[in-house]
Amino acid sequence: MIHHQLGRKAGLVAAQARDTSRRVASLSDTLSVLSPSALTAHRTFASKPPTPSTSTTSASTSPPPRRPVAGTSGANADGRSFRGQMLESISSRMAREQAERQRIASERQNSASTRNAATTFMLFCVGVACYYLGTKMPQDPSPDSTLPLGATRPPRHRTNAAELEAAWADFVAIVGATNVSTAPTDIASHVSSDWSSHKTTDEKAAQPFCVVYPSSTDEVSRILKICHTRRIPVIGFSGGTSLEGNFAPTRGGIVIDFARHMDRLLTLHKDDLDAVVQPGLGWETLNELLQEQGLFFPPDPGPGAQIGGMIGTGCSGTNAYRYGTMRDWVLSLTVVLADGTVVKTRQRPRKSSAGYDLTRLIIGSEGTLGLVTEATLKLAVRPTETSVAVAAFPDIRAAASCAARVVGEGIPVAAIEVLDDAQMACINAAGSTTRRWAEAPTLMFKFAGSSARAVREQIDAVQAAAKAARSVSFDFANSPEEQAELWSARKEALWSAIATKQPGERVWTGDVAVPISRLPDAIEEVQADLRRVGLRGTIVGHVGDGNFHAILVYAPEQRPAAEEFVHRMVKRAVELEGTVTGEHGVGLVKRDYLPHELSEETVAMMRKIKAALDPLCLLNCDKVVRMQKPKAGEIGEW
Ligand SMILES: Cc1cc2nc3c(=O)[nH]c(=O)nc-3n(C[C@H](O)[C@H](O)[C@H](O)COP(=O)(O)OP(=O)(O)OC[C@H]3O[C@@H](n4cnc5c(N)ncnc54)[C@H](O)[C@@H]3O)c2cc1C
Repeated sequence: MIHHQLGRKAGLVAAQARDTSRRVASLSDTLSVLSPSALTAHRTFASKPPTPSTSTTSASTSPPPRRPVAGTSGANADGRSFRGQMLESISSRMAREQAERQRIASERQNSASTRNAATTFMLFCVGVACYYLGTKMPQDPSPDSTLPLGATRPPRHRTNAAELEAAWADFVAIVGATNVSTAPTDIASHVSSDWSSHKTTDEKAAQPFCVVYPSSTDEVSRILKICHTRRIPVIGFSGGTSLEGNFAPTRGGIVIDFARHMDRLLTLHKDDLDAVVQPGLGWETLNELLQEQGLFFPPDPGPGAQIGGMIGTGCSGTNAYRYGTMRDWVLSLTVVLADGTVVKTRQRPRKSSAGYDLTRLIIGSEGTLGLVTEATLKLAVRPTETSVAVAAFPDIRAAASCAARVVGEGIPVAAIEVLDDAQMACINAAGSTTRRWAEAPTLMFKFAGSSARAVREQIDAVQAAAKAARSVSFDFANSPEEQAELWSARKEALWSAIATKQPGERVWTGDVAVPISRLPDAIEEVQADLRRVGLRGTIVGHVGDGNFHAILVYAPEQRPAAEEFVHRMVKRAVELEGTVTGEHGVGLVKRDYLPHELSEETVAMMRKIKAALDPLCLLNCDKVVRMQKPKAGEIGEW
């Protein structure tokens, strides 16, 4: 009986043990889905001693189950309790799940940043592609007829060493290494001269990298194509005699010199009275070549000037009164534009009304619109009879009045030149002429005609006009030798003024022109101003055209006084309805006077033309018109 009762008890215990085992499995499953906070709560609960409870339905409130192992009180073989093992299992499972959740979160985050980067890159590529396509699309043209200074953008050139060195190799491939020079002496002789009035302010930054000597239009075109692609500034150079800083570099780059290889008379059309020449041919050499043909080319600027530069400045000289200026003696031009395009402005007829006058647009543009590589020039028949006369006057007003009288009476003289008393004294001091001159205001006349009688009539008419203007002497030449001697004073004018320079002194030749009737006032005022400020200077000029020059010799510390003097002279000429330059061109400084002579709108129209033909401002940038707003205080008061 007892045995039977024990057997029933043992069966009951075994059944309870199986039931407990099922509950633990169920509890373990339940805990596996608990949140970490619930688990923590559970762990807290589990570590506390069990508290009595009346409820048997909640696993969390039940006493911890024990593994029913015979002979032990809930501990397994390695000494850990069942509850301990269960918690360890739960926490390791929770740790695995947490690690898994972290992995998924981090993967999600990584893939989000990758997505962001990809989107940004894609948008960037689309932007670049749109920009590129935009540059290929035709732009809406500016609706404005002019380009005011305020609407300009600063030119962007590439003059870093790497770009210039790469360009150097390109130039060598075109013209050969001997025709690309970086020698400091070559550079120095292409940036300024003793007679140029203006130097670049920042000479170091503006130094050109090299001088290139081309031989043909095609070579010039290829050189300009390289400069255009590489954004390198270019300055054309012929005789280097210009006076207004016309070829002074302002932005580095290169100089193209036409004198070495492009100096030939290509074709003479004697019957048509024209000649095709290269830009490096000097006007004096041309006249020597034409002499035996009985022809001559009238424009006569400084000794050493060449056709390219004469076209650049729109020069004239002593013959302009009778024959006109360079603008009247060029029929056609071959021009290489800023991007290397070659154009010919017209053919050879003496006249044409076909389209815009591009020939005259280029003349006087100082190499800012294109480089001249060939010119067809008109020629004149050399007069058979010539003579020269010299008249001295008591004062400069009397001399100027005589010039105005000769012009007003229509006496067909070839030239009328004025030299003031200071200039005559310079010529005597220099001793470069065979004769000693009266140191008084002097007029020099050239006569030309088809017969000795015609010339003699001109001389008589001029002598009468001189007498009426109170001349104190009147001499004329009876032979070619006497002519040369009398005219030599005029030829030596600038050189004799330069000869008076002390070491360190500089020369400034200021040039203006006024209507002929205003000439006596203009010259007299300038001379009085010169004496008032105490500068050393002389006055010479082509007074038949109302054009005269003040040649100043000044020490460096007198530069501000010289600048103010020239400024007043220019301003006065404009007030007298004259021009800021009669023949030397605008160059570096007179560009700021142009709006006062012509108006802002006229200059803005010139700027528009420049921007149309040379949008990158590669050709002699900063000359004639400004293409970039000046810095504060850069332009003085008018
Ligand atoms: C003693 C003396 C007397 C002078 N007397 C006079 C005078 O009576 N009348 C007068 O008008 N001038 C006179 N001048 C100034 C000078 O002689 C002229 O300005 C002349 O026209 C300059 O010619 P150039 O060959 O020396 O030109 P450069 O000085 O070489 O260049 C002049 C300008 O033309 C540009 N240029 C050069 N070659 C080309 C080209 N192939 N294509 C396009 N642009 C080019 C240059 O970049 C520069 O802007 C005198 C100068 C001196 C020193």
